[in-house]
Amino acid sequence: MLGLMQGWPLLCQRVVDHAATFHGGRKVITRSVEGPIVETNYADIRARALKVAQRLDKDGIRLGDRVATLAWNTWRHLECWYGIMGIGAIYHTVNPRLFPEQIVWIVNHAEDRMMFVDLTFVPLLEKIADKLPTIERYVILTDAAHMPQTSLKNAVPYEDWIGEVDGDFAWKEFDENTAAGMCYTSGTTGHPKGVLYSHRSNVLHSMIAAMPDAMAASSRDVILPVVPMFHANCWGLALTAPMVGATVVMPGAKMDGASIYELLTQYKVSFTAAVPTVWLMLLQDLEKTGGKLPDLERVVIGGSACPRAMTKTFQDVYGVQVIHAWGMTEMSPLGSLCTMKPEYADITGDAKLDIEMKQGHPPFGVEMKITDDSDKALPWDGKVFGRLKVRGPAVAKSYYKGEGGEAFDKDGWFDTGDVATMDQYGYMQITDRSKDVIKSGGEWISSIDLENLAVGHPKVAEAAVIGVAHPKWDERPLLVIVLKKGETATKDEILGFMQGKCAKWWMPDDVAFVDEIPHTATGKIQKLTLRKQFEGYRLPTGEAAE
Ligand code: ADP
Repeated sequence: MLGLMQGWPLLCQRVVDHAATFHGGRKVITRSVEGPIVETNYADIRARALKVAQRLDKDGIRLGDRVATLAWNTWRHLECWYGIMGIGAIYHTVNPRLFPEQIVWIVNHAEDRMMFVDLTFVPLLEKIADKLPTIERYVILTDAAHMPQTSLKNAVPYEDWIGEVDGDFAWKEFDENTAAGMCYTSGTTGHPKGVLYSHRSNVLHSMIAAMPDAMAASSRDVILPVVPMFHANCWGLALTAPMVGATVVMPGAKMDGASIYELLTQYKVSFTAAVPTVWLMLLQDLEKTGGKLPDLERVVIGGSACPRAMTKTFQDVYGVQVIHAWGMTEMSPLGSLCTMKPEYADITGDAKLDIEMKQGHPPFGVEMKITDDSDKALPWDGKVFGRLKVRGPAVAKSYYKGEGGEAFDKDGWFDTGDVATMDQYGYMQITDRSKDVIKSGGEWISSIDLENLAVGHPKVAEAAVIGVAHPKWDERPLLVIVLKKGETATKDEILGFMQGKCAKWWMPDDVAFVDEIPHTATGKIQKLTLRKQFEGYRLPTGEAAE
C-alpha cells in the first residue's frame, strides 16, 4: 500500500522559491569582481535567476544540457546556478586552478554548450577558446560598462543578456532525479572524473548539511562560504544557506587573510567554511594585526586534514568552534563532521583535541564502513585501519560516461580511496589514501602518520613518504624531505628523531633529501609523480625490484 502523501519532487529551484517567499529580504552581500561591495537579497536573486532561466531557454538550452561556470563566489554566480537548474539544464563548475589543458579536457568531456565567465578568467579562456568547440556563447559576468574587448565567441555582458527578457517565466517541471549539477574531481590519478548531482541529491544533501550535528545552519546565521562554488559543490552551502534563509556574504575573487577578515568583522559573520590553507592565511594575518573575531561562532575546516595547532588557536585564542569535516566531490561532498556527541561532552584539553583531530561522525544519509582488501568489515576500535567505504542518497553511483567503475561495488558501496579508522562511537579518522598506504609484509603503514612525525623535526619544511619496492616485504617506506632554507641534516638525525614515536617496523628504510616535492593544482602532494621519480630506488635494506 502506498502512503497518501503528496508527491512534491525535491527540485533545487524550490529552495530559492522558499528563500524568496519566507526570507525574501535577507541579504546576499558580495565583494564584486569589479571591486565594490554589492548587496542584494533572496527575492532579487530569485527574480534574476528566473531571467537567467528564461534567457537560457531563449538561447535554446534544454533539459540535460551542460552550462559551464568559471566564476568566483558572487551573487551572479548564485543566480546562474538556480537559473540553469530551473530549466533542467546542468551547472558545470569549472575549477580555474586546474591547468589550462585540464580545463580544455573537462569542458570537452562535459560538452558544455555555454559558459558564464568572471572578468578574471577572460584572458585565460581567450588562450584556449579555439580548443573548446562545443561552447556556443560566453556570457561575461559583468555589466556593459565593465565589458572588456574580447575575442570570445558571441561574448555578451551578463547584465545586458538577462536584460533582454522580462522575467515572466515559470520554472520547468521534471523528475527529482534529473541531473542538476556537475563537478569534476581534480584527477590526482589519471583524467578527472565527472560527478553528476541530481536535484534530489542536492536538496537532501543541503538538508543534511543544515542539521545541528552538522553545520547547524539557521536563518540567524550570517554565512561566509569561502569554499569556492567551483570546488566540490561549494560544500552544499549554495543550497543550504537559502534553504534555511541565512544571510550570505560572498568573497568574490579575494581570499587573502586581510580581505576575509574585513568581511568577517564588517558583516558579523557567524559561520564560515574553507580548506586549511585559507585559515592559515587568516591566522597569520590576525597574529600580525592583533585582530579579533568576536562574532564568528564556528568554522568548518576540511578538504585536507586540519592541523592541531589551527584548531587550538581558533578555539583558545579566538573563541571560535572548529568543526573538522571530511568529504569528497563524489559525496556532494559532506561525509562526516566532528561535533561532540554526549560520550565526549565532558572531555577537555589535549584529550578533546585528540577527538577534534578526527574527521568526525557521519550525519543521517551517509552510511560508512571500513574493510580490508577482501571487503571484510574491520572492527571499530579507533586503531585498525582499512578502506573507507560509503553509501547514501547524495553519494555518486557512477561517474559521468561510466568511467572509473571499479570504485563502486554491486551493493552500492563507493570506495572513497581513503584509509581510515573508526572508533567505538562512530568517529572516523583518515590515516591515508589507499594508493599511498605502504603495504609491508601484508600489513599497512600509514604514510601520513610518518609524514606528520617527520615534519615535527625543527629542520624539516615538508615531508612525503612513499612505498618503494622491496624483495622481501613487497614495499618499504622511503622518507622524502625538503629541509628548511639554509638547514642541513643527516639521515640518522631525522630517523633518530622519529625513533620510539612510531612502531619499529614502520620506521622508514631510508631518507632522501630533495629541493622540492611535487604538488597538484589543488595543493595536495603528488605522490604518483614522486613514486615515478623514485622508481627503481635502491633501499639500503634490500635490492630494488625493477
Ligand atoms: P580535490 O582533489 O579536487 O580536492 P575532493 O575535494 O573531492 O577533490 O578531495 C577529496 C579528498 O580530500 C578525500 O578523499 C580525502 O582524501 C581528502 N580530504 C578531504 N577532507 C579531509 C580531511 N578533513 N582530512 C584529510 N583528508 C581530507
